Amino acid sequence: MEYIDAKSILMPWGGEWFGCDHTVNIYRGCSHGCIYCDSRSDCYAIKRFDTVRAKRNALEILESELAHKRKKGIVALGAMSDGYNPFEKETELTRGALKLFDRYGFGVSLETKSDMVLRDIDILKSISSHSPVFVKLTVTTPYDGLAKKLEPRACSVTRRFAALAALSEAGLYAGVLMTPVLPFIEDDSASVLTIVDKAAECGCGFVYAGNSFGVTLRDSQRVHFFDKAEKHFVGIKEKYCAAYGNDYFCVSPVSDELYKSFADRCRKYGIEYEMSQIVAKGKRPYEKQQISLFDL
Ligand code: SF4
Repeated sequence: MEYIDAKSILMPWGGEWFGCDHTVNIYRGCSHGCIYCDSRSDCYAIKRFDTVRAKRNALEILESELAHKRKKGIVALGAMSDGYNPFEKETELTRGALKLFDRYGFGVSLETKSDMVLRDIDILKSISSHSPVFVKLTVTTPYDGLAKKLEPRACSVTRRFAALAALSEAGLYAGVLMTPVLPFIEDDSASVLTIVDKAAECGCGFVYAGNSFGVTLRDSQRVHFFDKAEKHFVGIKEKYCAAYGNDYFCVSPVSDELYKSFADRCRKYGIEYEMSQIVAKGKRPYEKQQISLFDL
């Protein structure tokens, strides 16, 4: 693994995404190899994306930034690079960041495709004793074989669901991030509804799939996606080009019907699936603290 210099770690975060106020990426690049990864887009200018680089002095910089924040909040972890890459086992930088959130009274919204997150249940529970914690395992297909083609170096879907069961069992607010859902590859109701069924079996509190099913594609990310996808799904590039041209958001042709059945299935289990409801439920136990700590 390589190291790079960083001037700052804690960045502001706008929008409704799991109630986040800040975002942190301890690593640059990601080793999971997802063929649809948005972080490969030109706008992020991450060269050699598959090579993981850790930010030098990341924890010292982060500690100083957290200590100087007067207003507490929720920090997004893992949005541009999965914090549980194989190097994390030794470096423990993600674990170190979680310890700092705990020490300085911040909540966390963590997303990963790795069951290494189970190592940090102790700290996540400690954070949840004072602040909101959202733990998300990304699952785009319930089938291990298909996931191996789409997310070749991430851990199996079976292990991701086992991790979700353990996180829920530990009393954490855990759920599935079901994005993207690739048109013509993953957008069938058996696939989507099986994910919801498995999430329910694992005791998940939410499944978030956005407001419609599809994938965003642009510039280098699109080129990479077609290059890799065509090896497994011959003719897929032609199908995408005919359906979407150069569109950024490629919405599944069956998105509306699919979303209706998805929402019905989530409601059947009492699982949250709309962002505002997920955030409200995750923050509810801390409402009194939020008045005193988060909103001052
Ligand atoms: S885990 Fe996330 S950041 Fe890493 S390659 Fe996959 S989509 Fe990209």
